[in-house]
Amino acid sequence: NRGGNVRVVVRVRGFLPREIERGATNLIEMDPRNQTTILHPPPESVSKTNSRKIVEKKEFTFDNSFWSFDRRDDHYADQEDVYNALGEEFLDHNFEGYHTCIFAYGQTGAGKSYSMMGTPEHPGLIPRTCRDLFERIESNNSPSVNYSVRVSYFEVYNEHVCDLLVPRRETPYYLKVRESPTEGPYIKDLTEVPVRNIGEILKWMKMGDNNRTIASTKMNDTSSRSHAVFTLVLKQIHHDMDTDETTERVARIRLVDLAGSERANSTGATGVRLREGSNINKSLTTLGRVIAALADDVPTKAGRKKREVVPYRDSVSSRIPVTNEQSSTDGDFQILTWLLKDSLGGNSKTAMIACISPSDYEETLSTLRYADQAKRIRTRAIINQDHVS
Ligand code: ADP
Ligand code: MG
Repeated sequence: NRGGNVRVVVRVRGFLPREIERGATNLIEMDPRNQTTILHPPPESVSKTNSRKIVEKKEFTFDNSFWSFDRRDDHYADQEDVYNALGEEFLDHNFEGYHTCIFAYGQTGAGKSYSMMGTPEHPGLIPRTCRDLFERIESNNSPSVNYSVRVSYFEVYNEHVCDLLVPRRETPYYLKVRESPTEGPYIKDLTEVPVRNIGEILKWMKMGDNNRTIASTKMNDTSSRSHAVFTLVLKQIHHDMDTDETTERVARIRLVDLAGSERANSTGATGVRLREGSNINKSLTTLGRVIAALADDVPTKAGRKKREVVPYRDSVSSRIPVTNEQSSTDGDFQILTWLLKDSLGGNSKTAMIACISPSDYEETLSTLRYADQAKRIRTRAIINQDHVS
């Protein structure tokens, strides 16, 4: 029973075409000691004439600082580098019997989906984890171990839970959240499918990804306003021939692509979009408070501080479709923080990928500050093993 801190890594992407068009300046520097530095943008007049440089620096240290700004740089971190530095080790832990969670945090357009799902040419952590998982299973030829893998995929959108592994319907179908006294919170009737090989799992992954709710905002036309949670459950049944004992290890692999962390007003959204934006905002405010509360929960000389103030239930959500502003606020506890309850500060080895864009000072600084706070969160991961006979 070893405690450990949330592992926090940061990744900066390169300029997007729209940033090149507006002549954006790169404000991020990273060095080999995993320091990430953000520079204050020079005032317009100064940058034009370049007569006087006023540079204010803010430095942060993370477990990894991934430089994905320019492919031509020696220290450029591509999808494989990120997997090798993080995903591979987390999968090792899963085979040892630990639950893990990797979540991507950051403003819309910062590279969360790219890091988690990626593109067909540049697959991200999710498809790489799936591939590595089955490669390991297939290369194991010990007759005493039996493996099974199940997959589920859901999204929290506008504070409703939607199953991504069922065909999209005309009328959205929302799942209910329940809490079991022994297992904790769970999603009722969530589809969980057994998968036997890489082909099957990729088929489900793609179906779920196509089902993800896409809504456009001014800021990023294809950005998703939903939190997407991809979960694998790896079960290993080990039969010891000598003692005739059977043990079972179950590890949950959770890969989370959060909705954009920006404030609703910075996207210029209106109407329905604005309501979605404010719900997302509320979720992230709560997430921020959860991070802050857990980060303060450090062991003291007198022993561990009590955890009673962590605001998991702070924000509420509705189970019924929202019809007006008021009806969305009573009853349930909030889905996103419920989800993070066991992954943040609980039985899980957890990592946060803070995705940043190179030229948005305010949003990037805010992401770096959340990330910096998240480093202090301790989790208590245990090997999930049972004797079955
Ligand atoms: P988010 O999910 O955080 O809203 P995306 O992952 O969709 O952002 O990234 C926005 C755009 O930037 C996409 O076109 C994506 O392909 C591109 N992008 C993001 N990160 C990288 C990266 N590390 N390397 C290359 N392109 C990237
Ligand atoms: Mg995205």
